[in-house]
Amino acid sequence: MTPELIAPGEVWLVGAGPGDPDLLTRKAEKLIRAASVIFHDALVGPEVLDLAARGTRMVHVGKRSGRHSKDQKTIDRLIVEAALAGERVVRLKGGDPSIFGRSTEELEACREAGVRVQVCPGVTAASAAAASLGASLTLRGLARKLTFVTAHARAGEALDLDWERLADPDATLAVYMGKAAAPEVSAKLQAAGLPGDTPVALVESASLPQERVFHTRLDLLGLTSKAALSDGPALLLIGEALREAGRVTAVARQTATALAR
Ligand code: SAH
Repeated sequence: MTPELIAPGEVWLVGAGPGDPDLLTRKAEKLIRAASVIFHDALVGPEVLDLAARGTRMVHVGKRSGRHSKDQKTIDRLIVEAALAGERVVRLKGGDPSIFGRSTEELEACREAGVRVQVCPGVTAASAAAASLGASLTLRGLARKLTFVTAHARAGEALDLDWERLADPDATLAVYMGKAAAPEVSAKLQAAGLPGDTPVALVESASLPQERVFHTRLDLLGLTSKAALSDGPALLLIGEALREAGRVTAVARQTATALAR
């Protein structure tokens, strides 16, 4: 008999990937099926949640910017309480739990309470977005670095980022939670010296049926994101590594237009 994947009283922080259930790891799927209770984010796709066994208690603890339904301390407490009550706890997070996922608080809360906690990684949004673009995030000689940054500011506060460092022509910048701040990201990166024609790709709802992809340039990023994006999660990818994917899309678009004539 295979040993139990989650013992009663244990917690797993599980990466749910970008939305498409086929992008779950096999381990994540097994953990989802083995849980007696699942605490999940707003960004976890419905088809992923459908994998839970019948009778599993599903608790939505989602946070979308501006609409905090449960604060982090409450989530920490709920997880710990469920574990101490002997549940098999899965905390399901969009993408990878270790990337802008507030994992540290939950890991510490469990450890402080003497609850065993483990992490199952997931496909992060930047990887899913690159796959949707048919592009690479790194590029020999041109993009030797990959920076993951969050452009989420507290309400009413300006973004506190080191723009000089981020405006690196040798790097690809993957901006999480950057939709609202797109005009500021564009202005600040240009002010710090990144050229206005630096290629940018916007990927909304990567890997989901409603996925949308836009190619633009840094100086048009604010406008494009306002005009094009709707209310799905979106990732901004900025840097020379995105140039070729934009060209391929432009050629495909021209061909489609010509054929339609
Ligand atoms: N832990 C997650 C990130 C959480 S932060 C991960 O590893 O992917 C939430 C942000 O992730 C969103 O604001 C958006 O920028 C990005 N994101 C999450 N899912 C996405 C998706 N399917 N498509 C595009 N961006 C996504």
